[in-house]
Amino acid sequence: MSAARRIGDAWRRAGQRIDRLDARLLLEHVCGCSHADLIAHPEREMTPAQLARFDELLARREAGEPLAYLVGSAFFHGLEFAVSPAVLIPRPDTEVLVEQALARARRLTSPRLLDLGTGSGIVAIVLARLCPSAVLTAVDVSAPALAVARANAARHDAPVRFLEGDWYAPLGDERFDLIVSNPPYVAAGDPHLRQNGLPFEPRDALTDGLAGGDGLACIRIIIAGAHRHLSPGGELLIEHGYDQAVQVRELLDAAGFSDVGSWRDGAAIERVSGGRLS
Ligand code: GLN
Repeated sequence: MSAARRIGDAWRRAGQRIDRLDARLLLEHVCGCSHADLIAHPEREMTPAQLARFDELLARREAGEPLAYLVGSAFFHGLEFAVSPAVLIPRPDTEVLVEQALARARRLTSPRLLDLGTGSGIVAIVLARLCPSAVLTAVDVSAPALAVARANAARHDAPVRFLEGDWYAPLGDERFDLIVSNPPYVAAGDPHLRQNGLPFEPRDALTDGLAGGDGLACIRIIIAGAHRHLSPGGELLIEHGYDQAVQVRELLDAAGFSDVGSWRDGAAIERVSGGRLS
């Protein structure tokens, strides 16, 4: 009877159904223990409530639900952020957006930065922390996403002004030195949306949902609105899909941007494109 409750046995059994590391992280989450506890005290007994909770999360992970939603957090740029199914799970793809934004922000004194479609707030919060002179504004159309973002900003003591609305809508005529965005850009018909954990993530954060579209509808809106919201010499940086860099550069060129370029993510894929408006 008690063998069934031992934490080490639970880990071993779960490791036959899901990835062993995921099993460990779920156990640590449910039992409030560390990796070292698990190794040092595999004989520790779980309470019936912990066992029931662990069984539930194990079944959900087995059914494909992302680990980040099950444990309620994920790491980005070395910081832990709360996540819920109201927001996308932070991805390493987005690190290059932060790097490029940071390099630009650090060249300016008290830059005004805008993050459009902030989701869990990771981009705005990391920029606020690493560039303390910057003044951050972050917009999202989703109130539940903004609640997650606000909690993350409080957790990391990051001064970010959060506004609810559709892209530039809540900003009036305000202008910024740098606009960054990780918008929805997956084409609605892309089979990627049905794979891995994506069906569990907010669809509106991944795709514009336009049947037969190219996934660039939001990027077009962001580029078009930049004229009214960038200060002279201000820059725009947008994350996009693995095969969209050429199209995004063309959109930026056509909109009158200069210094148009693309930057590669950790997987050597052109992941962010941007330019400057004079
Ligand atoms: N890079 C993400 C993916 O392909 C999509 C993120 C986004 O749409 N902004 O899973």
